[in-house]
Amino acid sequence: MQTQRSDKDQTGSAPLTATLLTIGDELSRGEIIDSNAAFLGSELTALGVYVRKRVGCNDRLEDIVAALDEAAQTGSLIVASGGLGPTSDDLTVDAVSAWLGVQPVQEPVHEERMRRRFIERNFAITPNNLRQVRIPSGATVLANRTGAAPGFAVQKGEVRAFFLPGVPKEMKPMFVEQAIPLVRQLLPPTVTVRRIYRTLGLGESHVDHRLADLLDVTEARRHAQQVAVTIHYRLAFPEVLVTLLARGEQADQVEAALAVLDEEVRRRLGHALYGTGEDELAAVVERALLERGQTLATAESCTGGMIGQTLTAVPGSSAYYLGGIVAYDNSVKRGVLGVSESTLTEHGAVSEACVRQMAESVRKLLGTTYGVAVSGIAGPGGGTQDKPVGTVWLAASSPERTLCRLIQWPGDREQVRKIATAAALNLVHKLMFPERLSDAALRL
Ligand code: ATP
Ligand code: MG
Repeated sequence: MQTQRSDKDQTGSAPLTATLLTIGDELSRGEIIDSNAAFLGSELTALGVYVRKRVGCNDRLEDIVAALDEAAQTGSLIVASGGLGPTSDDLTVDAVSAWLGVQPVQEPVHEERMRRRFIERNFAITPNNLRQVRIPSGATVLANRTGAAPGFAVQKGEVRAFFLPGVPKEMKPMFVEQAIPLVRQLLPPTVTVRRIYRTLGLGESHVDHRLADLLDVTEARRHAQQVAVTIHYRLAFPEVLVTLLARGEQADQVEAALAVLDEEVRRRLGHALYGTGEDELAAVVERALLERGQTLATAESCTGGMIGQTLTAVPGSSAYYLGGIVAYDNSVKRGVLGVSESTLTEHGAVSEACVRQMAESVRKLLGTTYGVAVSGIAGPGGGTQDKPVGTVWLAASSPERTLCRLIQWPGDREQVRKIATAAALNLVHKLMFPERLSDAALRL
């Protein structure tokens, strides 16, 4: 089983290698974030394409041509977005035509549709408008269901290149519905499977350390000749995601290799592992609540409703999340949640005693199975020697027990609030799955 990247692997066939090219000055100027590259990279990887380069390029004809030349040296697939519109700075069709040595031509189906729409609306069509229904002569049309400009696919030598609109709501359906079937035909006859493991409470380097030499486990070696596996880490603060990508000629061999590794990954990550796949922590907690027919209420101070917001971002959350109280000021902690005066004066609002009372009280007030509470110092002001900025007390309460946790995370206000939200949901998850409490190495 190989661990390093190379253009040829032990399955004997080279993966299809791609360059992503996102075109547009506004990307270089930092006016928009390159979400198209993220989407295309993720989709192509899931298909089993090795995305080797991501290139950004301004709306300059000669730069686009140079970028295409360079991408053609990198691999046999280019996927580009942007610059297909009507304005004079939309130069992708001209650049690709120049690259291929052909002329741009009007694409009759999109031209006809555009003329019809202009007549219906009683608008006069300008030469500008017609610019955006052009494609390089001989290109394969990719129809645009949600916009005016057609995309297109071209071939130059061994290289296939796809050109998609910049607007994400046009680019995504065009890529999924029309480009993917064509890309599939180019793939070598291999199967690629991606597994994502989600961890919370360990830093990236600790996760890496726990998984050191993973790909050398003895049983996995038996699959060495047939399956190529790579391991990748990604920090999605405060979570660390581990991805295994396995590629081989036969699905059963890939699955068998992954089954061995799966067991090993689970064993090594232990209780830092809270879920797999695309589901974030909130979704994992919510699925567990739904399966058990249980409910949750929140009492939030420094997170100011962020836990409630995270929970309600998932559709259908009313089935398990009944509501919450934002007890930002001590008068609300006292008056609504019944935190005692002595707790506040003796221990302060950021204390174990306070969050314990908040969690227990909100659970009873709202009549839920669980209550979760947070009180902390998000900063930048308000820290003391005893309780510096980043000190957060959390509690999760069920009818049987209440768990309290102290976290101290020296970060900025937003980070402290985010980590407090994640830690609160994690504490509820631990209350539901007490075996997760046993891993002393976990920081959350
Ligand atoms: P239009 O017909 O709108 O001109 P176009 O195909 O020419 O479409 P661009 O002009 O490059 O595309 O970009 C249009 C808009 O699409 C941008 O202003 C931006 O909002 C969005 N967009 C373009 N490229 C990207 C990208 N890489 N990631 C995210 N959004 C993008
Ligand atoms: Mg444009």
